[in-house]
Amino acid sequence: MYAKIIIDQDAKALDRVFEYIIPADMDISVGMRVYVPFGKRVLQGFVVDTSEDCEYDKSKLKKIISKIEDFSAIKPEMLSLMKFMAKKNHLKLASILRLFIPAEMREGKVKELFETHYTCDLKDDITLPKNAKKQFEIIELLKQNGGHASSSQLAEFGYGAIKSLVEKGILIKEKREVKRTPFVLSAESKEVKLNDSQLHAIETICEDKTYLLHGVTGSGKTEVYMHLIERVLSQGKNAIMLVPEISLTPQIMSNFKARFGDLVALLHSGLSAGERFDEWKRIFSGEARIAIGARSAIFAPVENVGVIIIDEEHEQSYISESNPRFDTHDVAEFRARYNRCPLVLGSATPSIESYEKAKQGYYTLVELPVRANGRELPKIQIIDMMNEIRTGNSGIFSNQLLADLTNVINNKKQAMIFINRRGYSSFLRCRDCGYIAKCVDCDVSLVYHREDNRLKCHYCGKQFKVLTQCPVCKSDNIKRGAVGTEQVVDKLKEYFPDVKILRMDNDTTSTKNAHQKILSEFKNTLPCLLVGTQMIAKGHDFENVVLVGIVDADQSLYHADYRSTERTFQLITQVSGRAGRSENEGKVVLQTYSPRHYVYKFASNYDYKGFFRKEENIRQTAGFPPFTRIIRILFSDHDENYVRELLKMCYTEIEQLKNIYGDNIIYLDAMKSPIKRIQDKYRYQIMMRLKLEKADEIEEKVFNIVDSISKTSVFFEINPQNLS
Ligand code: ADP
Ligand code: ZN
Ligand code: ZN
Repeated sequence: MYAKIIIDQDAKALDRVFEYIIPADMDISVGMRVYVPFGKRVLQGFVVDTSEDCEYDKSKLKKIISKIEDFSAIKPEMLSLMKFMAKKNHLKLASILRLFIPAEMREGKVKELFETHYTCDLKDDITLPKNAKKQFEIIELLKQNGGHASSSQLAEFGYGAIKSLVEKGILIKEKREVKRTPFVLSAESKEVKLNDSQLHAIETICEDKTYLLHGVTGSGKTEVYMHLIERVLSQGKNAIMLVPEISLTPQIMSNFKARFGDLVALLHSGLSAGERFDEWKRIFSGEARIAIGARSAIFAPVENVGVIIIDEEHEQSYISESNPRFDTHDVAEFRARYNRCPLVLGSATPSIESYEKAKQGYYTLVELPVRANGRELPKIQIIDMMNEIRTGNSGIFSNQLLADLTNVINNKKQAMIFINRRGYSSFLRCRDCGYIAKCVDCDVSLVYHREDNRLKCHYCGKQFKVLTQCPVCKSDNIKRGAVGTEQVVDKLKEYFPDVKILRMDNDTTSTKNAHQKILSEFKNTLPCLLVGTQMIAKGHDFENVVLVGIVDADQSLYHADYRSTERTFQLITQVSGRAGRSENEGKVVLQTYSPRHYVYKFASNYDYKGFFRKEENIRQTAGFPPFTRIIRILFSDHDENYVRELLKMCYTEIEQLKNIYGDNIIYLDAMKSPIKRIQDKYRYQIMMRLKLEKADEIEEKVFNIVDSISKTSVFFEINPQNLS
């Protein structure tokens, strides 16, 4: 027998299938990992096929050395997925396969954790010498424990006593695997009576289709997810649920643990290596039937999938921006169709792309239009910060926000103060008239680059000198950036010295379980203020939060990205959704320097559909996705001359495509990347914008051109989120 094997190495030259002989006494099945000889080395590989015959010269084939594990770590579905992703995302096979198993398994660093376990038959008459006090105590403990104990439970009695009981045959010693389970805050499982919209949603979502579940914040989407999963479990099938960020998982996890117990397994990067490995194994063996986690959980080895849920589907974190680059939506779609089950995309603010798909009939739209508690969404009050400045208040907080905060504190309630960090300090703004520096050709904000003190357009690469005077009002009060969380906390302390103020951002959450600690302290403190970044915007459900303050909403608006208005709308809606979720009425104070921007009108009325229509229109006119496709091809290497040479060769060939495709290629140019060098590698790029009709065809030709020319890795990005 012969095996087709993909070598677990990153080199482009190895990115294909190699054949090996399966030794007669070796039992090899598809999906197993093996050691194989390769040149003079021994490398790891994945078996992707086996056959009676081989394609290459038999006499030249080598034998598989041994198996790494005794089981097929890669299931058949995942092998199909590998092929799909290789074509769709133009990725190396090995880099895809690695996504399917815990990194710890590849490096062989983590193994199952075993502990010695002791049992004794309590029915037996146990006679012990009178002076063996410790041995008596051990038997006493085992009696209380139903005849079992682990070595750690018995450690205090000393090894001598244990050993003597084992030697007498009273204790039976064995090795048992212990599972390392991630810490989860406990929650009570509450039974709620579903409302009509929820019932309708659950009834509708049952076919082999993609559903867009558009539910306002607090509409009870989680409850819908849980019922869908319950149904799937009762049908003997399993489920995958994705949530965008770890900071979100504690709450979701505790709700799911309360409802489904050990059937839930958690997968995310915040786990220790051992925990991640054990959770993966619990899913792999079928012991856990619901995989919950961030993006990478879409690769969980769940078999017989009955539903896939992507919560907060609009979140950027579902797109992998480092290698291998892929969009979780595509993978989820593939797995749902493979398993013939529903895919549910849930959000209060669906991405423009997804809503457009629903509009065109590719997705089925399901709506939860009201809050589950029957209350109105919190009122959003827009504060014009230019006006505050004009009337002598140049501080971080408007008078309105300070008054409302005082109120919250007097009533012993809670407030969240949200600092928008997206696009943080990257754009230039005139503090007197609100003017923002934008690219004349692309109509996106220019990004300030500290390294060369220039303003750059991330779409066309044009560079500009940093402005010192406003071209509109001639003021020289042109400033970059906004305030940080720390600064906001310090200021708040001055106003409210006796109030507990918590901070949640990248700095305060770098340690394990830090999120949970901050959130549970917040939950249990009245009154209390929580200051935070995007982390506090989503998913949290605190009943005492009655006020949300948005310090500088514009930060995300002028990010150099065609999605920046959409992101701003999403952020405002999400963060506003944290207020007034229970009996208490909620309110939002939104501070902006551009109060007349259309995003604020739609966001403050919770008018998603109005916003969608406006945004759809703008994208269509300006030629941005989802009505066009943007491709970025990123070349990077230590040798600058080589990258430039490569870029030139590829560009010359790609340019020829214009002769065939004409104005289907809306834009094509080659340039330095906005960030010229990362980790000592020079970065150059080709940017293209394509009409949709011929986009697939052109994309494939471009892939092939670059592939045939380049010997090193080149990264392809479709509609990239971040163009640095
Ligand atoms: P979403 O995810 O849509 O923002 P959640 O699922 O977090 O909303 O639900 C918001 C709150 O409403 C939760 O506290 C939840 O327990 C509660 N809830 C959900 N469904 C119902 C219902 N049918 N009746 C009463 N409360 C509900
Ligand atoms: Zn100005
Ligand atoms: Zn431009």
